[in-house]
This record gives sequence, C-alpha cells and structure tokens, in this order.
Amino acid sequence: MFVIRLTVGGLNVVDRFSAEKRSWLMSRVRRKDTTPELAVRRLLFGLGYRYRVHRKGLPGTPDIVFLKRKKAVFVHGCFWHGHSGCKLATRPKSSIAFWTKKISGNQARDSNNVTQLSQQGWTVLIVWQCEIQDELLLREKLVRFLGPPRVASN
Ligand SMILES: [Zn+2]
Repeated sequence: MFVIRLTVGGLNVVDRFSAEKRSWLMSRVRRKDTTPELAVRRLLFGLGYRYRVHRKGLPGTPDIVFLKRKKAVFVHGCFWHGHSGCKLATRPKSSIAFWTKKISGNQARDSNNVTQLSQQGWTVLIVWQCEIQDELLLREKLVRFLGPPRVASN
C-alpha cells in the first residue's frame, strides 16, 4: 500500500520509516516497466507507432526508441528525476542531504545522456510521470515529437 501511495507523491506517508527502509521502498518503485512507462507505450501503440524498448548500447538505455526516426523517449518519474516545480517531486523532510545528492546525481546523468544521444544524431523527448494524467495533452506532445505514425515502421 505504501508503495502505491509513493508513486503518486505521498512521500510524507513514509517519513516515519528510517532512511534505509525508505530507500528499499523507493527501489521497488524504480524498477523497469513502471506504470507511467507502460501507459506511454500503450498510448503510442494505440496511435499506430511501433518502437523498441530499453534499447541497450545507447546512452542511458532509452525507454522507448524509434530506430528509423532516430528518436528516443525517456519516461521519467518526477521524484527520482527531480521534475522542477512538480508536486510529485516533493522531497521528504528527513534525510534531505541523502535525497538531494541522489536526485542531483540522477539529473546529472539524465542530462549527460541527452547530450550524448544528441551528439550521435538522436532527438530526445522526456515524458514526465505527471504528464500521463492528461492523455490528450500527452498525445499531442508525442505526435508533435514523432510526426504522424506509419504502421509497420519503427
Ligand atoms: Zn512532474
């Protein structure tokens, strides 16, 4: 139950846990094929796009990759990737130094991955977890980024 509430930003709920326990809880949230990513994939598939997932050999192993278009999508959890100004990214009031260090590290890595991908000719889109809530807007954002879908193409 706690894990579910964590994903929607209810971080205060687990403040009574030790940093170690919370770290364990958070690690359960940060696995592959998380719900936001699946939601984006389902939406893309429904629109007629075909793609590869977790493409190894590319900087940062992008979550969703369009090989022919040379476009990559990362679906970022707002807390872990430090979505600026987002309520899902609110940090716990305890162990501030711990979380700041961890999240800053993730942000530095993210930005470095985008730079490297760009240098290799890739165009990158970041989809934030909180953007999944508005499917119409998200659809617009994806279509604008990808161009019209071509079935049987990836
Ligand atoms: Zn967000």
